[in-house]
Amino acid sequence: MDIVLNNVSVSYKGTDGKENRVIEDMNLNLKKGSLFYLKGGSGSGKSTFLNVVSGLILPQKGKMTLDGTDISTLSEHKRDLFRAKNIGYIFQTFNLLAPLNVLENVCFPAIITGKHTASDNSRAKEILDELGLKGYYAKPVYHLSVGQRQRVAVARVLFSDYSVVLADEPTASLDKISASIVKESLLKLNKNGTTVIIASHDSTFDSHKADVVYDFEKRRFEDEI
Ligand code: ADP
Ligand code: MG
Repeated sequence: MDIVLNNVSVSYKGTDGKENRVIEDMNLNLKKGSLFYLKGGSGSGKSTFLNVVSGLILPQKGKMTLDGTDISTLSEHKRDLFRAKNIGYIFQTFNLLAPLNVLENVCFPAIITGKHTASDNSRAKEILDELGLKGYYAKPVYHLSVGQRQRVAVARVLFSDYSVVLADEPTASLDKISASIVKESLLKLNKNGTTVIIASHDSTFDSHKADVVYDFEKRRFEDEI
């Protein structure tokens, strides 16, 4: 999906009533299939930006369109459907479904549409194996370590065919080897045509591999390659 922002600003009201402007007049023209890398320390606005792109936050000022659709004009229900169909979101807090096991969490998008098949299970297992979670299929997710949960959240997004994938600190809870597996999975997804946006406060992701890099601390784009 092409993602376009025109003069987008987002601010939060503090408890003291003061406005904290986190995103200020941001412009972006991200072409379908791009890899966009968000850098900047904790609290600089990366998650806020991902929430804007997913339509979970509507900017107070400016306009954001996804393939020409301004999702702020959709009803909440239509916006939810649009998001479910097009956008895969790896949340910093994973948002896994606690009563379900690992395999069910990964296949959840197929389960809720009632189109869940045995071949879905084998595909989900292949993805889990690649992420080092072989043998964990039947475990309830609350039995997993934080790093394992993070990989289940990644697997769930890899399982579905989204046109945009948002990854919020997808390697933050992982050891070096798992982080590199997750990183390569996201880069491969992007190579296959998915628009991928990754937020990371550390240097796991080499920014030179991205098509576009935005530094939220400096509030500017780095040279595009
Ligand atoms: P990052 O993801 O880069 O760590 P965030 O986008 O989460 O940054 O936060 C950016 C700033 O906005 C921080 O100062 C944070 O405290 C503030 N902020 C984030 N979400 C909210 C919210 N729901 N209400 C008020 N302030 C918020
Ligand atoms: Mg964040």
